[in-house]
Amino acid sequence: MDLKALIREIPDFPKPGISFKDITTLLSNPEGLNYTINTLAEKCGDLAPDLIVGMESRGFIFGAPLAYKMRVGFVPVRKPGKLPSAVHSIEYQLEYGTDRLEIHQDALHSGSRILIVDDLIATGGTAGATARLIQQTGCELVGCAFVIELKDLNGRQQLPKVPIITLVEY
Ligand code: 5GP
Repeated sequence: MDLKALIREIPDFPKPGISFKDITTLLSNPEGLNYTINTLAEKCGDLAPDLIVGMESRGFIFGAPLAYKMRVGFVPVRKPGKLPSAVHSIEYQLEYGTDRLEIHQDALHSGSRILIVDDLIATGGTAGATARLIQQTGCELVGCAFVIELKDLNGRQQLPKVPIITLVEY
């Protein structure tokens, strides 16, 4: 299936010069959504994760149905102040300034096999920080899966040496 045809490109969003990859047009297409989750599940099956970790907020949209399909649990990584119980947190660099991501301390257990899922990898800042957060908890990161990869930004370089699964490249 031609997934690229279902992803809408919005020029100059959110800033001039950026061509935003809008996945809402893929999500609203029944065959497209079904194919996306099924293909991710096939490609990630051999990684045999115990849990999928998805990042706020588009990582939830793909991560939760993928976890359901793979019959594993789903754990959200959220922006600061959103999770109600005790958290591990990690600060990471943005273009200007820093940001922070949080995960519930009791959601991960040392030795668990974790698959990171997000809609898109650009600079790799978000996924790289999530990978460090997971490794700090003593879990094993077994792979990272993204629907979209923006190749020129070399986001992969921010990730540890684990399998990286992507469906569409720009
Ligand atoms: P990175 O941290 O790799 O630079 O950016 C990836 C994060 O920003 C992901 O969580 C993703 O949801 C969001 N993101 C950045 N650019 C785009 C885009 O063009 N389209 C979509 N859907 N998400 C984007």
